[in-house]
Amino acid sequence: MSSPRQHFLVLTFPLQGHIAPALRLARRLHAAAPDALVTFSTTEVAHRRMFPAKPDDGANDDSDEDDGRLEFLPFSDGTEAGYVRSPDPGSFNAYMASFHAAGARSFGQLVDALAARGRPVSRVVYTLMLPWAADVARERGIPSALYWIQPVAVFAIYHHYFHGHAGVVAEHRHDPSFVVELPGLAPQTVADLPSFLTDSTDPSDFFHSIFTTIRDLIETLDKESPKSTVLVNTCQELEVGALAAVGTQAHDVLPVGPVLPSGDDDASIFEQDDDARYMEWLDAKPANSVVYVSFGSLATMAREHLDELLRGLEESGRPYLCVVRKDNKAALLADAETKVDEELKNGVVVEWCDQVRVLSHAAIGCFVTHCGWNSVLESVVAGVPMVCVPRMSDQRTNAQLVVREWRVGVRAKVDDGGVLRAAEVRRCIDKVMGNLDAAAEVRRMAEEWKQVVTKAMGKGGSSDRNLMAFVDGARSAV
Ligand code: UDP
Repeated sequence: MSSPRQHFLVLTFPLQGHIAPALRLARRLHAAAPDALVTFSTTEVAHRRMFPAKPDDGANDDSDEDDGRLEFLPFSDGTEAGYVRSPDPGSFNAYMASFHAAGARSFGQLVDALAARGRPVSRVVYTLMLPWAADVARERGIPSALYWIQPVAVFAIYHHYFHGHAGVVAEHRHDPSFVVELPGLAPQTVADLPSFLTDSTDPSDFFHSIFTTIRDLIETLDKESPKSTVLVNTCQELEVGALAAVGTQAHDVLPVGPVLPSGDDDASIFEQDDDARYMEWLDAKPANSVVYVSFGSLATMAREHLDELLRGLEESGRPYLCVVRKDNKAALLADAETKVDEELKNGVVVEWCDQVRVLSHAAIGCFVTHCGWNSVLESVVAGVPMVCVPRMSDQRTNAQLVVREWRVGVRAKVDDGGVLRAAEVRRCIDKVMGNLDAAAEVRRMAEEWKQVVTKAMGKGGSSDRNLMAFVDGARSAV
């Protein structure tokens, strides 16, 4: 009798910064094990945005997509529209409560339905906001792996925080300059810790449910026997110290990244601008001359922030490509009836671009970024130096890696009101693109890390070997 086919089910939270690395990993799993089935699942709402109905779809059910390599099957988060931004202080936490309850139920039904269709799942791979995915899998005797889509450094901080070090952080969480020492990690200030540990521990906080979800996740990992498997979107060369700080006792930590799209097979829940427009504009610019600016898929800028940013970019005298998302523009236009980009001389504003393609364009000389982990990795892979403007979540820790560990960027200072002023924009751009030796050194380091990371991702590199080991281990367990 032939043995059942290997079947990976990759499950993710419905945000762009989670969907992109999860889908890229799913595709790598398929490339590493072409005979295996790979199913990708996110919420119904995000699924519909990834696969907008075509005009001739009629009343067809669009819930099951198959691109010939991966099957896309959504789960329900119990809502019609997903999380809708709202100033109501309890809105996000209420959404998360529904997400967890309905998500676990719907995901269990999905796993059972696949088994009933003769496609039993042999390994669940889930991203970081879904601790219940491991429980659902365990209840059915299916092994699971967490896919950590932030740096190991951040995983190490959470791991130690929830294993005996919460007290010291809680006691000093309002003192940004207090230095925290966690086992195996370089001393770091409270201001550099993930914001959910300093700002979200009170039940009244807007993002308190993220704090409790991460707590549940770390607890869930401890239930795995003999050890949990944690795939990480990083490579071991980038994070030698942090890997040692997690240790090998409790978790098998496997860096398998940076995972990137392998062509035009990436997914977005955002509609892209006409890419010919900005790519042609980039084509006409000299090498390393353009500043690329994006603060990711979630952060929004108030009018004052955007005005300062655009003024600083104009005053830098360098050409720039700046992303201001449609939802951000809509909020600004409601505030004041002015256009966002009517007076720009040197720059282009787009609502969404193909960032990986933009960063790999020869004209790009620096990336002004909020330091979301995907953005950081995409920049490192492209060898582009960064100006870091971190705000929340893991971004402050990520900025420390960029500036202190790898020395491929500088950190911008914001004023007391949290505004990045035009003069600081100019100063920081000059620090990575200018003529001084320090700027040349940042560019040299960016080029060096690009080589290291490219090797890790390539055939026989450390991340490639780790992914193959994971696939082989999963195969032998079928
Ligand atoms: N991104 C993009 N086009 C844009 C802006 C962002 O494709 O115009 C992508 C970017 O390549 C990255 C993701 O959106 O993969 C943002 O993820 P990140 O972790 O950097 O930040 P988040 O959005 O989660 O804050």
